[in-house]
Amino acid sequence: MQAILINKDDSGYTAQISQIDEAQLPAGDVLVQVDYSTLNYKDSLAITGSSPVVRSFPMVPGIDLAGTVEHSDHADFKVGDKVVLNGFGVGEGHWGGLAQKARVNGDWLVPLPTAFTPKQAMTIGTAGYTAMLCVMALEQHGVTPDQGEILVTGAAGGVGSIAISLLAKLGYQVVASSGRAEQTDYLLGLGATAIMDRSELSAKGRPLAKERWAGAIDAVGSHTLANICAAMKYGGTVAACGLAQGFDLPATVMPFILRGVTLAGIDSVYRPKADRIDAWNRLAQDLDLSHLDTIMTEITLQQALTTAKDQMAGHTRGRFVVNVNS
Ligand code: NDP
Repeated sequence: MQAILINKDDSGYTAQISQIDEAQLPAGDVLVQVDYSTLNYKDSLAITGSSPVVRSFPMVPGIDLAGTVEHSDHADFKVGDKVVLNGFGVGEGHWGGLAQKARVNGDWLVPLPTAFTPKQAMTIGTAGYTAMLCVMALEQHGVTPDQGEILVTGAAGGVGSIAISLLAKLGYQVVASSGRAEQTDYLLGLGATAIMDRSELSAKGRPLAKERWAGAIDAVGSHTLANICAAMKYGGTVAACGLAQGFDLPATVMPFILRGVTLAGIDSVYRPKADRIDAWNRLAQDLDLSHLDTIMTEITLQQALTTAKDQMAGHTRGRFVVNVNS
């Protein structure tokens, strides 16, 4: 079968399409025939070697997969079941979804929600499931549509695109922060009510600014996240999930101790299974499926190698579904 294989040795770091044998797959109690995988930010970091996300070599990247169970020794899954996998270190420390088959621990699998085809589930992927976790965090902290504007950063990316679509359908007023003016029509089409140039947020700001945001979903980190915290309304919540600008957080405690702002950290990788199932059920209920075709670009395994470079350069839009069988 074909797979992307990452290697690191004395001759350097390489990622290329390789033929691998089923016998080479790592241990696991479920063998999945992969229909689609995706290209998340983390997959692009892995493929390009931009950040040390791969923990052992050789590695098949791909933190997401959707497919059909071919063999199972796990009580919850039988041959023919449609399944989804997001995270759990797959594609980082255990061979992942950018291959025609994957052998995994059945505890990591979630049944494919009946609302979605495998391709739709991968259009959502880890980015979309994380966007849902962010929206749920805002809800859990009492952010409601009547309280005012919600800011979404990294708006034209995967997390941002799905977050905008979800929030708009739930009745929130969404301001999309993007560095690309040419994506304005795309972002308004997903339901954003206004666009903010990301340069307004990306430089060092004041500890406290005028109160504006009732809630925020931040995929960017660094000064952007610090500036968001500084401009939160009293009692507002920021769901922080990403680091596209940087992993630093040059902020002060002022928004937290003077305005009761909540900074809610979102991790999708080791999120307990019950939360994952909740998030996927909410996606089935609250995502406007008509947006998925606009958000998604289908690519081949070969194309994933070049698209990863484009994603690292910030040139990609929305989500990339990888047809591993083409
Ligand atoms: P994408 O590459 O699809 O989107 C990232 C977006 O961030 C870009 O489209 C761009 O949006 C914006 N951006 C890029 N570079 C910069 C920069 N230097 N400064 C400010 N904004 C920038 O990635 P994803 O949406 O898939 O992921 C977004 C982030 O979330 C990543 O850091 C990823 O690692 C993280 N993530 C975390 C998860 C978790 O479990 N916590 C799960 C999934 C993702 P625009 O052009 O519109 O400005």
